[in-house]
Amino acid sequence: MIDLYHDREVETMDREALRALQLLRLKKTVSSALKTPFYKNRLKDVGIKSAEDLKNLTDIKKIPFTTKDDLREAYPFGLMASDRDEVVRMHASSGTTGTPTVIYQTQGDLDRWTDLTTRSLVSAGCRKEDIFQNMMTYGLFTGGIGLHYGAENLGMLVIPVSSGNTKRQFQLMKDFGTTVVHATPSYMLYLHSKMEEYGYTLSDFRLKKALVGAEPHSEEIREKIETLFGIDAYNSYGLSEMNGPSVAFECEKKAGMHLWEDSYLMEVVDENTLEEIPDGETGELVLSILIRTATPILRYRTRDLTSIIPGKCSCGRISRRISRIKGRTDDMLIINGVNVFPSQIEEVIMKMPEIGTNYRIVVKKEGILDRLIVQTEVGASIFSDDARDMNKLQKRIIDNLRASITISPTVELHEPGVLPVQEGKAIRVVDERGGNG
Ligand code: ADP
Ligand code: ZN
Repeated sequence: MIDLYHDREVETMDREALRALQLLRLKKTVSSALKTPFYKNRLKDVGIKSAEDLKNLTDIKKIPFTTKDDLREAYPFGLMASDRDEVVRMHASSGTTGTPTVIYQTQGDLDRWTDLTTRSLVSAGCRKEDIFQNMMTYGLFTGGIGLHYGAENLGMLVIPVSSGNTKRQFQLMKDFGTTVVHATPSYMLYLHSKMEEYGYTLSDFRLKKALVGAEPHSEEIREKIETLFGIDAYNSYGLSEMNGPSVAFECEKKAGMHLWEDSYLMEVVDENTLEEIPDGETGELVLSILIRTATPILRYRTRDLTSIIPGKCSCGRISRRISRIKGRTDDMLIINGVNVFPSQIEEVIMKMPEIGTNYRIVVKKEGILDRLIVQTEVGASIFSDDARDMNKLQKRIIDNLRASITISPTVELHEPGVLPVQEGKAIRVVDERGGNG
């Protein structure tokens, strides 16, 4: 029988044993943290002078939260806990929201991360027989390199092509019979939209799976990717502060992402009161890394909004699952006083079969009022139809959006290929108001 787990013992251990392992590893992280200029005083201020001052897991609540600004303040060396000659790698965030933050890893840290990414790949059904084309950017950004090592460790044949160069992506997929790709969901959709232009059809490929992550995407986008390519798509979540991909990953059940709790301690808090909230409710994800010595980060406010899915997954893995990331706390748009998340707009429009693969949200100021404009591409055949049909479609989109977000946007329909596409993370929102409205 094929072993469906990479590390059965850890993945299926009982919760009590898991908690004991977490406490042990948390103590190690705190020991490292006490060596850094950044955490030394912060921990002492709350009475933690040595790891032994943590008696149980709830003692973590004594430790103050760490924010992205804190990490920027610690740039470049304030969070390095290992001797410089033990550190073998550094990574930085993509800087989507400002100055990048850096993390360091020792060889041991890298090995533990590789083991975890291997586990993630196996949980999403990848096997050593697979041919893995990694379309995620390599470099300081952790997306490409992170899964690369796990994929090699699993024994897949890895094609480290990185992002962009769509023509070459197609050629490699065809010539080498790629079975698994790793990309952003927006790039998967872009890839599909270019297939015909480059002279390929689905029958040229042997693709079975896509691992998609690095940016928020709705269930509707997943379904679109799956239907267009005739494959399975799995959600992959991570952030450079916590190593990168493989913080949470969907298993073959596709019922939320397992957040690997032996490696990360998770809390979900109300983003305003910072109090822990019950399972099932949406709040900000707070993470402490348990498997890295060179850059310990404790109670990191990810700004990502999610909820803990109650109950156990039928795959048998013990790590609790989180729901699809709804967006970042700072993604929320305030339009004439109404709170709107871009993900709400995406959910509505991507449910409509006439809508193509790309969209953009533009917010402008008109006098004292905000104007929300939703630009979407529509299928080529629909676009060339009668103008009256286009008007009807426009009206239906407005009605559906109003029902969900309570405000009426302006809707612009565009031909396929007109709206801008990014090589890395998609930029879905253009706020032209200055400030955040
Ligand atoms: P940056 O914060 O500069 O974008 P990273 O490259 O480390 O830095 O990206 C991590 C962030 O990307 C996460 O905090 C999250 O907001 C987003 N992200 C990563 N994976 C996913 C995913 N599967 N779904 C939604 N958002 C994701
Ligand atoms: Zn599962």
